[in-house]
Amino acid sequence: MSSSGGIQIPGRLPLLLTHEGVLLPGATMRISVDTARNMQLVKSRLLKGTSLKSTIIGVIPNTKDPDHDSEELPTLHSIGTAGLAVQVVGSNWPKPHYTLLITGLCRFRVAQLLKERPFPLAVVVQLDQLEQLTNSPDGELGELGERFYQAAVQLVGMLDMSVPVVAKLRRMLDSLPRETLPDVLASMIRTTNKEKLQVLDAVSLEERFKKTLPLLSRQIEGLKLLQKTRKPKPDDDKKVLSVRKGRVFPIRQFSLDEEAEDDDGDDITLLERKVKGASMPEPALRVCVKELKRLKKMPQSMPEYALTRNYLELMVELPWSKSTTDCLDIRAARVLLDNDHYAMEKLKRRVLEYLAVRQLKSSLKGPILCFVGPPGVGKTSVGRSIARTLGREFHRIALGGVCDQSDIRGHRRTYVGSMPGRIINGLKSVGVNNPVFLLDEVDKLGKSLQGDPAAALLEVLDPEQNHSFTDHYLNVAFDLSQVLFIATANTTATIPPALLDRMEVLQVPGYTQEEKVEIAHRHLIPHQLEQHGLTPQQLQIPPHTTHDIISRYTREAGVRSLERKIGAICRAVAVKVAEGHKMSKQESSNHQQDQPGDEKEAGAEEAQRESADLSAPPEMPILIDPIALKDILGPPLFEMEVSERLTLPGVAIGLAWTPLGGEIMFVEASRMEGDGQLTLTGQLGDVMKESAHLAISWLRSNAKLYQLTNMSGHPDPMEGTDIHLHFPAGAVLKDGPSAGVTIVTCLASLLSGRLVRSDVAMTGEITLRGLVLPVGGIKDKVLAAHRAGLKRVIIPKRNEKDLEEIPAHIRAELDFVAAGSVDQVLNAAFGGGFPAAATTSPLTHPHLASKL
Ligand code: ADP
Repeated sequence: MSSSGGIQIPGRLPLLLTHEGVLLPGATMRISVDTARNMQLVKSRLLKGTSLKSTIIGVIPNTKDPDHDSEELPTLHSIGTAGLAVQVVGSNWPKPHYTLLITGLCRFRVAQLLKERPFPLAVVVQLDQLEQLTNSPDGELGELGERFYQAAVQLVGMLDMSVPVVAKLRRMLDSLPRETLPDVLASMIRTTNKEKLQVLDAVSLEERFKKTLPLLSRQIEGLKLLQKTRKPKPDDDKKVLSVRKGRVFPIRQFSLDEEAEDDDGDDITLLERKVKGASMPEPALRVCVKELKRLKKMPQSMPEYALTRNYLELMVELPWSKSTTDCLDIRAARVLLDNDHYAMEKLKRRVLEYLAVRQLKSSLKGPILCFVGPPGVGKTSVGRSIARTLGREFHRIALGGVCDQSDIRGHRRTYVGSMPGRIINGLKSVGVNNPVFLLDEVDKLGKSLQGDPAAALLEVLDPEQNHSFTDHYLNVAFDLSQVLFIATANTTATIPPALLDRMEVLQVPGYTQEEKVEIAHRHLIPHQLEQHGLTPQQLQIPPHTTHDIISRYTREAGVRSLERKIGAICRAVAVKVAEGHKMSKQESSNHQQDQPGDEKEAGAEEAQRESADLSAPPEMPILIDPIALKDILGPPLFEMEVSERLTLPGVAIGLAWTPLGGEIMFVEASRMEGDGQLTLTGQLGDVMKESAHLAISWLRSNAKLYQLTNMSGHPDPMEGTDIHLHFPAGAVLKDGPSAGVTIVTCLASLLSGRLVRSDVAMTGEITLRGLVLPVGGIKDKVLAAHRAGLKRVIIPKRNEKDLEEIPAHIRAELDFVAAGSVDQVLNAAFGGGFPAAATTSPLTHPHLASKL
């Protein structure tokens, strides 16, 4: 836009003070507006008016006063640039502000300040217009102009013409009047704000030319120097880039550039050049050369032409010899792991050991680490941290549901639509040959007629074989020995044994309530706030609310749904924050700028209203209390139902282990008249059915001692009676024997008519003779009991050693009973012992087993 071309600016202008730079006529600049004065100006002048005039504002550089938001108006620079606001965008993050796109029109001088609040308004005198009228194209000024023009042409000629902006500038140079050139170029070249200010202050055209010409020459010199250093090595700046980013760029970067230079060149020659540049090993190169030869002879219309080309393109893109250098510093790694992850001490320690050994012995052919644990406990996230500590690229390969060998190893090229496998694809996308590959969910590999993917993975993971891994599509060996593989799984039970054999399993147990609160406050909340463009000034979640979310809205071992709930809160608050902004400026939103839905449409109107806005209190954070929580997340999903459900005889709480972590489960029993049948419902494994039969047999054989009878007082509890056992909440198959003690307790309660203590959970396998055998997953189970608010946990005696894994404060809150026999279990499960305290139980006799 020409600086003054016929534009008449209003005699009064609102003034926008900016410390971000100097707007010159003819230039366009982005100005971020966040001070109270400027915000007011934007709201009432730019977002309200409808005529063009009202979008012209005076922009005054504020170089003197760094404290730009003080109450006092700083001394104004006397010259400014009238600017046309071409775009206004509002945003709320990190704090409310607008971004203006302003094009400078012409200079003005501030003649008189009319008012300071809510934003300065001044009588102004337009400058450039007058200037232009008086100057003539000949004489000294004309010559200066010519010299300036030549320099400008030289400068633009040194820039890269293929960039559209540069090409446009080149055209503009010829069409713009000479007197506008100093301003336009001064805002384009690299200058300090002080220099720009001098240009702004140079009101006379002659002075302006003289001020700007040296700046222009300086820039030309700079460019010359740059070109000189660049000439001998054309790909120098690529190297600079890669060094700066600490990584090596994939080859395709290289090929992109080449293509740009050479796009009308011969395709095949180009490909040939790339093949040479890809530093492939000998066998691969041979194959490529052969394929190239074939390609040259093939007509382009042949379908095979495209196939061969695709193949060659993949070959040259693969990182045959590109790698990143490991930058492992164990101390830094420790800090990084600690910063990224709260708790999980054991895992972090093992990972550090692993890394340390790698550092000492650079080519480690050790086992593959496999993190096993419930979802959302940070397995993937630790993998990512490992890649970061090593300075390696990270790539996740999801194996869940993969049931075809060719997913791993690729299809042979004879197939239509054949592709390389996920390993080669992954290498192509990371562009280096030593990334960290996370093999996610190895326990969910499938099997099908198309071959066993596990077998293919074995080859990938085996250090003896993987230096020459052959993808069917590539059909030449690729060296995978530099890749660091890490696997994750929910359970080891379904990992193919041969695969498991190659891996070192690291258990990642679930978190306790307290750990989750810490994780939420250290990691999840800050992360979610950032994702939703909120600040802690806008949203506060106190720890007791986090506690509530964890116990009443989630039931999980990891923190994934906790993170989702926090996300839901952030979304709700983001809407509130946005609405709040609109509310305070409701009626003034008649002036819509470009994209709808943006914040910026608000704008105040009358002066009083403006000042009222200005004096409005600063934004207060939204605090999430129990009421807000209920409002946002709805009624709690998991109320403490435990005590409610234990109001009838025949219910006991067991502890189950599932791949998703520990769970409490209610075992229910009822009896009715019948002929001694046992009915079982709920998701049951065979082992569980056996446990149920064991329990009944044991109780029948001890009925007398425990004074158990059937409904009509017969000494055999099963006489004329059917029993129905149910395992509710049976979403997961609980195929473990560990429910034995729970079933016995539940039936004992049913047959004796006594209630089981409502704060007791239990786990353990039983034998026919009433002994309690150890079971697995104690830590997860105990955590589940703690989560559910239970107080006493009955575990098998031989599992006592497992209690060490449980955090001390949780151990302190629970009462553990280590039971060696069923009678001890029953004694602990019923208030007042079993049978009731008054009767001395013969079953406490140490030789109980032999008596039976
Ligand atoms: P997984 O792979 O075990 O299913 P993820 O690694 O995807 O779980 O973790 C889910 C989320 O929880 C991620 O955002 C992760 O950063 C976070 N997270 C899990 N554990 C921790 C922890 N100990 N400290 C900090 N964040 C964690």
